[in-house]
Amino acid sequence: MNKANETDPDNSSPGGAAVPSHFIREIVKSDLKTGKWNGCVQTRFPPEPNGFLHIGHAKSICLNFGLASEFGGLCNLRFDDTNPTKEEDFYVKAIIEDVKWLGFDWGDRMFYASDNFVQLYEWAVKLIKDGHAYVDDLSADEIRQHRGTLTLPGRDSPYRNRSVAENLDLFERMKDGEFVDGAKVLRAKIDMASGNLNLRDPVLYRILKVPHHRTGDRWCIYPMYDFAHGQSDSIEKITHSICTLEFEDHRPLYDWILDKLGVYHPQQIEFARLNLAYTLLSKRKLLQLVEEGCVDGWDDPRMPTISGMRRRGYTPESIRDFCERIGVAKANSTVEMALLEHCLREDLNKRARRVMAVLRPLKIVITNYPEGQVEEFAAENNPEEPEAGSRKIPFSRELYIERDDFMEDPPKKFFRLAPGKEVRLKHAFIIRCEEVVKDDGGNVIELRCTYDPDSRTGGATAGRKIKGTLHWVSSQHAKKAEVRLYNHLFTKVNPADEKECPDLKTGLNPDSLEVLKDCLVEPALAEADPGERFQFLRMGYFCVDSKESKPGAPAFNRAVTLRDTWAKISKKKG
Ligand code: ATP
Ligand code: MG
Repeated sequence: MNKANETDPDNSSPGGAAVPSHFIREIVKSDLKTGKWNGCVQTRFPPEPNGFLHIGHAKSICLNFGLASEFGGLCNLRFDDTNPTKEEDFYVKAIIEDVKWLGFDWGDRMFYASDNFVQLYEWAVKLIKDGHAYVDDLSADEIRQHRGTLTLPGRDSPYRNRSVAENLDLFERMKDGEFVDGAKVLRAKIDMASGNLNLRDPVLYRILKVPHHRTGDRWCIYPMYDFAHGQSDSIEKITHSICTLEFEDHRPLYDWILDKLGVYHPQQIEFARLNLAYTLLSKRKLLQLVEEGCVDGWDDPRMPTISGMRRRGYTPESIRDFCERIGVAKANSTVEMALLEHCLREDLNKRARRVMAVLRPLKIVITNYPEGQVEEFAAENNPEEPEAGSRKIPFSRELYIERDDFMEDPPKKFFRLAPGKEVRLKHAFIIRCEEVVKDDGGNVIELRCTYDPDSRTGGATAGRKIKGTLHWVSSQHAKKAEVRLYNHLFTKVNPADEKECPDLKTGLNPDSLEVLKDCLVEPALAEADPGERFQFLRMGYFCVDSKESKPGAPAFNRAVTLRDTWAKISKKKG
């Protein structure tokens, strides 16, 4: 039985709340009990620096760093940089920033597979000497043709039985740059009839006359990922080598290599990768979106990347909470975006300051309010956090409200503003709509209202029952702002599925971004810091864009609306 999502009373988070347990935690606990690794827990997070990290990586990061910290162990950061054609220092820097931002620390244990190139070369030589590897002259295509299929065994390469001496000589000459790319490879000599295709003499080394982001021109042969990953784990004395399910079939190969080398042998454990509805978690496809200009870079707020989510307004806490809640299982599944959004809302509800911003302004004039008069009212910053205090907001004769908060001919349950109807303005007075002003085209351009001067807190009519409360800003005090509203990046639930979405571009949601240029915000917001997050009353949680916002000309990204569909879904499920 799969233990994901069970609650284990032995496990409490530092705050004392029970956290759901999962099968990998159970393995670690059991290993600690039996003393399998002498009481050690050593994990690692092993990204390939060929793209930015996404929310799927966050699951792996939280799992690896989380288990280490929970059981007094350590977690390394290791770059699996064995493919110089795709990897760049630019990605290394972005990955470091993202893991740190998520709240994890690898101390002085940042490693690269490329640190091990000399050792890996020596290990390849050892395999050759022991008769476990050979140099093959077949081309990549021919190797594929010889591999066979799931139902048909493969065929031996005609070069399979070269002598050890010849193999050693050829491998050295490969290293010395004597042959062109693709002319030769080093292969493990395992079993061309194995039921596991990964064991049909897999390629261990290939010639690539390409400079490497760290070793420069030092090497022109590079180990395959499969010949570097397991040994890097071994060198770092990893105890629990946690990876995603697609590597399950590679485990016998890693085991074979480590056994043949006779070196320290970690235990690999596979779990199901995170899939998230309406987006994709594949660096290759995310890179395609970036390169084809479908999004505004890796950190576009619509991207499921950590940097995109940060720019959008996600907090590290909300992402960690999400990773905890989705659990860890052996079976693939797709998680609802609504859960991720729910985690953010819960977090921001506790700490985001409440402010007022009008996204689509409609002017109102309070005809019985003295011209030129300005009053300041105290507005609480966060009802969830009394220590957050309050601020002063200005009120005057001319105000703006949300265009959607007025209807000339409203349906019955419209508790907002309409001709002859009353609403309360948040932190201020009750107003009544007396007159609708239109332009020549018949569009409503202004409302003339009256206010009840006694309807503020403490006033004689303050207690009057009014159904609707609207947010607003004072016309002469408000600052202009740009606001970006986001929607799912794709219209398909599973855009990674080529059946559902044969061409990425056609699956893109044309309405994933709406830019509103004429929004009006409370004066103080014009000076908000990049990355600062707020709740715009009734409109959602917003974050000051860290790239394009300027003092005096702020730009806000909507992180999430206030409507919690997850809470509804989970209530229905009981
Ligand atoms: P992608 O398919 O996005 O390129 P990857 O697996 O090739 O992902 P790596 O840089 O190799 O990317 O991943 C680093 C670690 O993160 C690996 O251990 C991998 O298993 C894990 N990981 C990647 N994607 C996910 C995901 N969606 N859910 C959970 N873990 C993931
Ligand atoms: Mg990978």
